[in-house]
Amino acid sequence: MQIDQQKCVACGNCIPVCPMGAIAIDTGLNRAVVNTNECVECYACFRGMSMEKLNPTLVRGIRRLLKIFRLRFDPEPDVCPTSAIIPDELSWPRVVRRAFSDPIVTHESTGVHGRGTEEVKTNDVTHRVGLGEAGYVIEFGRPTVGVWFRDIEKMTRALAGIGIEFEPRNPVTHMMIDRKTGKLRDDILNEKILSAIVEFKTAVENVPVVLRRVDEVSKTLDTVVSVGVSTRCDVEGNSALDGILAEEGFSYVRGKTNLGLGHA
Ligand code: SF4
Ligand code: SF4
Repeated sequence: MQIDQQKCVACGNCIPVCPMGAIAIDTGLNRAVVNTNECVECYACFRGMSMEKLNPTLVRGIRRLLKIFRLRFDPEPDVCPTSAIIPDELSWPRVVRRAFSDPIVTHESTGVHGRGTEEVKTNDVTHRVGLGEAGYVIEFGRPTVGVWFRDIEKMTRALAGIGIEFEPRNPVTHMMIDRKTGKLRDDILNEKILSAIVEFKTAVENVPVVLRRVDEVSKTLDTVVSVGVSTRCDVEGNSALDGILAEEGFSYVRGKTNLGLGHA
């Protein structure tokens, strides 16, 4: 994303809209500028604000005049008064930022909006996680924090080393050049995104070793990590996971229960 320096009147309205804190007023230029290293191309600023077409010279003049009388001309808070926020033409690899950060972009690897798949929410139909298996979602990043692909790769490589099976339809898996080693494409490693989800599965008895590895690696990453593990319950609704997690000392809550109503 960029800000047209000819049009910007430094009202500051776009600053709180950016989930990455990537927009700031350059006091020397008296214009808003985007830190392109931190910008994840989420389009929140461009799409989230109304664009008015006031004349920048006129607005600057009014602001200067009012300032003399200790008054301010401020547009409504959700408005860029001069339509100064301009999307860049994104090429590879920068375009990957938008694919993982703009929730209305359809990811070509999944055909759905956003950064993951349906995970196990439809497992009663897809059977992606079978009997005796555990499915995992590892989520990296958050608004204001984000995540670099190089950090995601540290985790995927560490997990590949203990013999997991990456979900083939997941967008991060789609970025791997070798699913056996968890190696991502070199040209995306220095791209930052808002967040990403890595999905994979193992035999349920491997849950402790996987969670310990995730715990170890997450401490070395420049982002936040959260983990979900799922499995199939027996007919009484009991899950082998409960005992495993309690024995290993992990605190957990049962977040979602899929009742199987999708099963034809
Ligand atoms: S909202 Fe528009 S005019 Fe105001 S600081 Fe941002 S880019 Fe500049
Ligand atoms: S595209 Fe998103 S991250 Fe980039 S400046 Fe706009 S709001 Fe911030």
